[in-house]
Amino acid sequence: MTFSLAIVGRPNVGKSTLFNRLVGKRLALVDDQPGVTRDLREGAARLGDLRFTVIDTAGLEEATDESLQGRMRKLTERAVDMADICLFMIDARTGVTPTDEVFADILRKRSKHVILAANKAEGSAADGGVIEAYGLGLGEPIRLSAEHGEGLNDLYSVLMPLADGFEERAKHDAPETDVAVDEEGDVDAPRVPTAKKPLQIAVVGRPNAGKSTLINKILGEERLLTGPEAGITRDAISLQIEWDGLHTRIFDTAGMRKKARVLEKLEKLSVGDGLRAVKFAEVVIVLLDAAIPFEQQDLRIADLAEREGRAVVVAVNKWDVEPEKQQKLRDLRESFERLLPQLRGTPMVTVSAKTGKGLDRLRAAVEKAHDVWNRRVSTAQLNRWLTGMLEQHPPPAPGGKRIKLRYMTQAKTRPPGFVVMCSHPDKLPESYTRYLVNGLRVDFDMPGTPIRLHMRSQN
Ligand code: GDP
Ligand code: GDP
Repeated sequence: MTFSLAIVGRPNVGKSTLFNRLVGKRLALVDDQPGVTRDLREGAARLGDLRFTVIDTAGLEEATDESLQGRMRKLTERAVDMADICLFMIDARTGVTPTDEVFADILRKRSKHVILAANKAEGSAADGGVIEAYGLGLGEPIRLSAEHGEGLNDLYSVLMPLADGFEERAKHDAPETDVAVDEEGDVDAPRVPTAKKPLQIAVVGRPNAGKSTLINKILGEERLLTGPEAGITRDAISLQIEWDGLHTRIFDTAGMRKKARVLEKLEKLSVGDGLRAVKFAEVVIVLLDAAIPFEQQDLRIADLAEREGRAVVVAVNKWDVEPEKQQKLRDLRESFERLLPQLRGTPMVTVSAKTGKGLDRLRAAVEKAHDVWNRRVSTAQLNRWLTGMLEQHPPPAPGGKRIKLRYMTQAKTRPPGFVVMCSHPDKLPESYTRYLVNGLRVDFDMPGTPIRLHMRSQN
């Protein structure tokens, strides 16, 4: 038995886009089945290891003589009654509209399981809408970008525990090292038939930094092939590893990188490959070779991880053969802060993948970065903090009128994102935002994670 998920919401919020993404090429229109009409579409959906039926109410825009509201209500009620779980979608760019409120009302009364999704949430233009979504009283919204495929991991984590109640999850013949990347290169949540979601780690770094050696060491046995030869490992590798009590899934990119080397397109492909691994990950370990630190490629991948909103831990490898340990560490920290100011405070751990030294500290740093990435700070705490920050260093007063920062709340986690109501966001200098972000990082102890801070206009 599988479960069914209805995607509901007013027209144009992106329901079909999500439907298509979940169904992919496996679209099966079943509108000739009894009880299912043209305005309800069903498809066989896949998300990671979850298999389910998805129901889309996309027929709404077609004109009939009934009023839109009336039709929407009926259609939604039908979809809700048909489905085990409802995904209620709003457009985070537009924010919550009166029609959304009508939907929320229906769902609160009628559906047992509602997942609230704020779609079109790529970029900061959606932050305000995400905050408004909390006000619908349907719990914490998931940030989605159906169009760009973002937030699917979050959708997976919310669906999974619900799905467990409805179905015996599809058993997989996939090997343990399988990575769910389809032909388009789209990334699904991992196919892991376990109840607890593993902490997803990507190990990235330039060729020969020691990625395979590191993973082997963590694994405690030679299950991955290492060595300088080209083309010896399989394409993309992910392994579920119990890392000293921490349930993890680690993605290694060595395979594709080695293939890329054969193709002599190393630079280009390895960045694309790193990108894919970064998209999978919650925590990205940027592995450096102590002897050849901070190449362009390392910087690019670390910057990418920051932009993708992943937690980052830097591991400096081959520390066993580093002659000038103290000096080297100082230099590394200094150049990291200078070259990647956006990743200030990122934990830096020295390790030897070969001997295993420092791996316990690496594990601790990864776990902490993950915690911080998931951290939620209460609104009361934030506003007390904001008051102190404003007193200590008031915002500028361009043209004699002081810019006011009135209220602050955390709009999201993974990574932490904050919204501040501001009288003139356009006039507030970047340096003031940086002052607040750095303050948040220090005062709430949030190293190793990007922090998003969005100023929202309010007079
Ligand atoms: P539906 O009426 O709810 O089924 O909405 P559609 O799936 O037809 O999408 C409506 C419009 O929103 C289309 O132009 C989509 O391309 C666009 N759209 C859907 N998802 C996203 C998204 O995640 N981000 C942005 N920016 N646009 C999206
Ligand atoms: P990858 O390309 O990033 O997967 O790197 P490999 O794991 O294949 O390692 C590249 C080379 O560096 C191999 O010859 C490893 O033996 C060596 N290596 C990896 N880690 C260490 C380390 O901690 N210390 C030393 N001395 N050598 C290492």
